Amino acid sequence: MIYLDYSATTPVLYDVLESYNNATRDYMGNANSMHALGVKSKVLLNSATKQICELFNINEEELIFTSGATESNNMALKGIALAYQNRGKHIVVSKLEHPSIYKVCEFLETQGFEISYVDNDSEGLVDFEDLKEKVRNDTILVSICAVNSEVGIRQPLKTLRQIIKKENPNTIFHSDMTQAIGKVPVNMHDVDLASMSGHKIFGPKGIGFLFKSSKVNLVPLIHGSGHFNDLRSGTPPLPLIVALSKACRIALDNLEDKEAKVQKLNDRICNELAKYDGVVINKTKYSIPHILNISLENIRPETFIHSMEDDEVYLSTNTACSSGELSTSVMAIYNDKKRATSTIRISLSYVTTNEEVSKFLNLFKSKYKELDELMRSKHE
Ligand code: PMP
Repeated sequence: MIYLDYSATTPVLYDVLESYNNATRDYMGNANSMHALGVKSKVLLNSATKQICELFNINEEELIFTSGATESNNMALKGIALAYQNRGKHIVVSKLEHPSIYKVCEFLETQGFEISYVDNDSEGLVDFEDLKEKVRNDTILVSICAVNSEVGIRQPLKTLRQIIKKENPNTIFHSDMTQAIGKVPVNMHDVDLASMSGHKIFGPKGIGFLFKSSKVNLVPLIHGSGHFNDLRSGTPPLPLIVALSKACRIALDNLEDKEAKVQKLNDRICNELAKYDGVVINKTKYSIPHILNISLENIRPETFIHSMEDDEVYLSTNTACSSGELSTSVMAIYNDKKRATSTIRISLSYVTTNEEVSKFLNLFKSKYKELDELMRSKHE
């Protein structure tokens, strides 16, 4: 099998699974319990929390464990909206967000909030001038993803923060960092809130976190018996948290070398695919190398993906989470419907090998030839 869908999810690393298994086996107590088993679990919970906080240079009260990035995004947007609605009901997001941001925005609109969509340029970069204009006195929140999930556009969060805060120092800045963490360096202090997910960094599914600066308040979405500052109640999923902390440590280790390796693989694929007349590469100077998006002019992307799958090569259409056929990000960047409805995402990781890329390119060649000829013969 050749797996090239690492932006949809990643396999759990052996060491990560081992820490999950050990915590499940040896720490059965509820970390909220007063007795010795609870205290033993609490000690492990504290040390896993501390490790994550050290890695991201944040304080322990600023870390809220969630079930993943969808929940973190919900918590950030709804939680801020509820906490600051007396100050204003205006929220700004980019046109390159994940559905888990847009769906929350749609919901918030039904609750009387106004959503503005900031423009981007033809390279996918958020338009600084438009952002300046869109941030108003009643703008309580701006949410812009650190790395877009479809085309891999990376935004300069620090600059965006400066623009936002200059326009309105009270506007809170959230970033969905799900596709950035473990791939490129991130700085939590560029933002007030950040979302992430464990299963994108070789950790288990069902765990992630929301970073929330101690300077901002949040109304919780889940009420119950408290922990994590009462912001997300319920028994802490200790094995998942321990596994997440292990996954984070491994993910952030040697980031530069890993990125350089992925860049080389990306360059190889791009050089080859650029030779095809019917393949358009949706990549700008802001795309990170881990996410490579292409459009096929003559072949339906689903047909191509299933045909590759027959030979155990796994790719995706725009994202695993998009329900429609249109890639909103390709549309936002190129404003070309045909291009945006024929996308394939090839997503790479530092564990991808040159040999896998060679096999992928060979198979791509034969499948492309076969399906392209078939399509042409149909049109004759
Ligand atoms: N945001 C982005 C940018 C993503 O890529 C994803 C996963 N596709 C999510 C949020 C949702 O993450 P999760 O599966 O952890 O809910």
